[in-house]
Amino acid sequence: MDVFERTERFVMKTYNRYPVCFVKGEGCRLYDSQGKEYLDMLAGIAVCNLGHAHPAVTRAVCEQAKELLHVSNLFYIESQAELAELICKNSFGEKVFFCNSGAEANEGAIKLARRYGTQLDPEKYEIVAFKGSFHGRTMAAVTVTGQGKYSEGFGPMLPGVKFANFNDVDSLLSVVSERTAGIIVEPIQGEGGVVPASREFLRALREVADRFNALLIFDEVQTGIGRTGKLFAYQHYGVEPDVMTLAKALGNGVPIGAIVAKGKAAEVLRPGLHASTFGGNLLATRAGVAVMKEVTKPGFLEEVEEKGNYLKGLLEELVGEFPQVLESVRGKGLMLGLVCKVGCKDIVKSALDRGLIINCTAGNVLRFVPPLVISREEIDEGVAILREVLKGYAG
Ligand SMILES: *Cc1c(COP(=O)(O)O)cnc(C)c1O
Repeated sequence: MDVFERTERFVMKTYNRYPVCFVKGEGCRLYDSQGKEYLDMLAGIAVCNLGHAHPAVTRAVCEQAKELLHVSNLFYIESQAELAELICKNSFGEKVFFCNSGAEANEGAIKLARRYGTQLDPEKYEIVAFKGSFHGRTMAAVTVTGQGKYSEGFGPMLPGVKFANFNDVDSLLSVVSERTAGIIVEPIQGEGGVVPASREFLRALREVADRFNALLIFDEVQTGIGRTGKLFAYQHYGVEPDVMTLAKALGNGVPIGAIVAKGKAAEVLRPGLHASTFGGNLLATRAGVAVMKEVTKPGFLEEVEEKGNYLKGLLEELVGEFPQVLESVRGKGLMLGLVCKVGCKDIVKSALDRGLIINCTAGNVLRFVPPLVISREEIDEGVAILREVLKGYAG
């Protein structure tokens, strides 16, 4: 049996996979088991922001693995403290809780908001979320995910969750009340099709959260760690949340998640209230420290912003060239969506055949979330491959 047969035989079929098995990577390049080379503009879905086999991350993980992998949060952990400090000093944050994934970070943030609310009033437990959002697959995270397909057949869902339309202040005002404990939102909806929040919308969220004494939670699991050209996407908007969740790129591939909080939200979770066996372990936080040191190096984020604008410009040219197939480009930094007038699954498959890795989200949006270390030449190469693919669709 080869890997394809063995997977289908023994792994639960929760994914439809492409018949490709990558065995090695470097920077933006991946190599499959047949020795074929690919240009990666997906980065494991916005995870490998520093590219594959980044020397600083590899060194940190190898050194740590030789010394000690795990103890327990019953003891102090050097790299956990260091990573928490790095996150706080580079954001609005004052305190961090570490876990292992994005869904888990959101799960914890929802618990935090409920605890905050019910301490003020037992009826103050509602969470407001938005249509089109994606927050992960655990029960609370999937409940606040505003796309029916993710929760179908898993009911009953968590009570007390209300949905409003994204980027719609009137809709928000129709669901928020004194019973609202938290409002959870992605500054740029990722799985929903790379849809940025407007500045007015996030400002209104801040104002409404304050008015009703609810916690404002930004899910930056996908937008965080430099993806949008700022370290965190909220920094584009001049709006600070009370709570921010992180995961994906924080470990550049080593599983880690985090809840970042300030002010009244920072002191809610006390001993015994929330925990995680693996959360903040030596290996994951050591990787996280290496990542944070790289992305906060002078000039790194400016480069991301410039390369993002460069890629955006090239994608806009493609929209001009293929108006029958393509509609528009949206997103910030190196988190870009190319909206298609057709379903884009086949485009992704043809690109993969030609050695370019991208993906399709929300049915008709081609998503570009390459490693942030991508070069202009690699961007040119990726766009050239896509142009060849699109020629096949323009007829
Ligand atoms: C990927 C993602 C999640 C879920 O993260 P997991 O690590 O898969 O649990 C949550 N929120 C957003 C915005 C995401 O993009």
